[in-house]
Amino acid sequence: MSELHSLSVSQILNGLAAGDFSSRELAQAYLKRIAALNPRLNAYLYVDAAGALAAAEAADRQRAGAKDPAGLPPLLGLPIAVKDVLAVAGMPATCGSRILEGFVPSYNATSVQRLLDAGVVILGKTNTDEFAMGSSTENSAYGITRNPWDEERVPGGSSGGSAAAVAAGLAPAALGTDTGGSVRQPAAFCGLSGLKTSYGRVSRYGLVAFGSSLDTVGVLAHSAQDAALVLNAMAGYDPRDATTLEQPAPNIHLNGNASVKGLRIGVPREYFIEGLQPEVEAAVRAAIAQFEQLGAQVQEVSLPHTAYALPVYYIIAPAEASANLARFDGVRYGLRIEQDNLIEMFSRTRGQGFGPEVKRRVMIGTYALSAGYYDAYYGQAQKVRTLIRDDFARVFEQVDLIAAPATPGSAFPIGAHAEDPLQMYLEDVFTLPANLAGVPGLSIPAGFDSTGLPLGLQLLGPYFSEERLLAAAHAYQQASDHHTRRPQL
Ligand code: GLN
Repeated sequence: MSELHSLSVSQILNGLAAGDFSSRELAQAYLKRIAALNPRLNAYLYVDAAGALAAAEAADRQRAGAKDPAGLPPLLGLPIAVKDVLAVAGMPATCGSRILEGFVPSYNATSVQRLLDAGVVILGKTNTDEFAMGSSTENSAYGITRNPWDEERVPGGSSGGSAAAVAAGLAPAALGTDTGGSVRQPAAFCGLSGLKTSYGRVSRYGLVAFGSSLDTVGVLAHSAQDAALVLNAMAGYDPRDATTLEQPAPNIHLNGNASVKGLRIGVPREYFIEGLQPEVEAAVRAAIAQFEQLGAQVQEVSLPHTAYALPVYYIIAPAEASANLARFDGVRYGLRIEQDNLIEMFSRTRGQGFGPEVKRRVMIGTYALSAGYYDAYYGQAQKVRTLIRDDFARVFEQVDLIAAPATPGSAFPIGAHAEDPLQMYLEDVFTLPANLAGVPGLSIPAGFDSTGLPLGLQLLGPYFSEERLLAAAHAYQQASDHHTRRPQL
């Protein structure tokens, strides 16, 4: 049998059920690998070794004492990592920001609580761009995270710590969040399957808000099959998040042979634009051809307002962020720079607590929302957002899924966009539209470039079509092996 840290979620669950290894052995294997590799990669900001071992031992006891194994929690003993923008009771939540230094939430995010109820063992919290603003994890106040496929390159962002952790075998799966691409883009850069859920599918309670109308909780794992297992456990209606839909939690089990026979796949011409790396285009076209060989019907489609997604997102997301981040003022959470004068205390705390990208967003957002400019910027952006959503609705009358590149290129070198925020924003051109429309998306490994870096195919589906997306990806993954490759570390 291969080493414990290289098993998939489903292999782990089967192995635990069969008694091939214990949860404790599994947690120990991951903790050992974290101790060895995290100093190099900086994927985790916080590791709870004692808590993880205690939870793993409790899981083993529960399994040993069970009269009916079928009644055990579905993910009992499975280790996972959690992006540091989600609250885990008793563990620091920094959001990659100095301003939250020392803040330890006393409660669990709903997504986290549901996974705990399903039996997971939380290994720790993973690095992120500050408040999830970025595409490289270079905006973290706690150091950059390195891409396990090439340590001189970024893992993507903002869920770069989660992506690097899973790719390097420091966790079999991890939670991420996706406001504009932060699950799908790092999944593409690290050779993973990254699911961005439909808006309203997974509760945002306990997720530190960035862009409230765009934020979603998702999963990074090796395969669609693994992502589905985690999604099942955490999705569903939550009275604490009024935007979650009152629908039963999904119950997606991708065990048998999935088929894409007759599935109509649309390829949007607006996603094959100048700036798309030829190797990405080649890999994406090859993956689409493979779907066709597997029986899917492929046709070109048009999403005419795609080009507006970037400017629209960079009004709406900063506008919402500027309002959400007003709560970090030195009074309630984390950092406080003591001053005699209250206003001075606010401004020193925010001045020293926030990094440059967060300040840029707060300034853009405050400007876009200011009296006299509201209609011209925020109001206008909302109207164009509706056109983008309508594009998807129209195309999903013709096709079942959309297939497109996840990113314009493969992982870029650390520092490549450091001086140019616009270049960084352009990394998200292909992922932002799904957030503006609220629809689910999945990035899956579609091959490697000539230097051995992973490339991602993005699948998009209609609202609440996670099962269709994951099943299509599963069919592809049964017929390909890109997702089984691991970096040499
Ligand atoms: N990279 C995008 C941004 O900087 C998206 C981030 C995200 O999805 N959290 O806003």
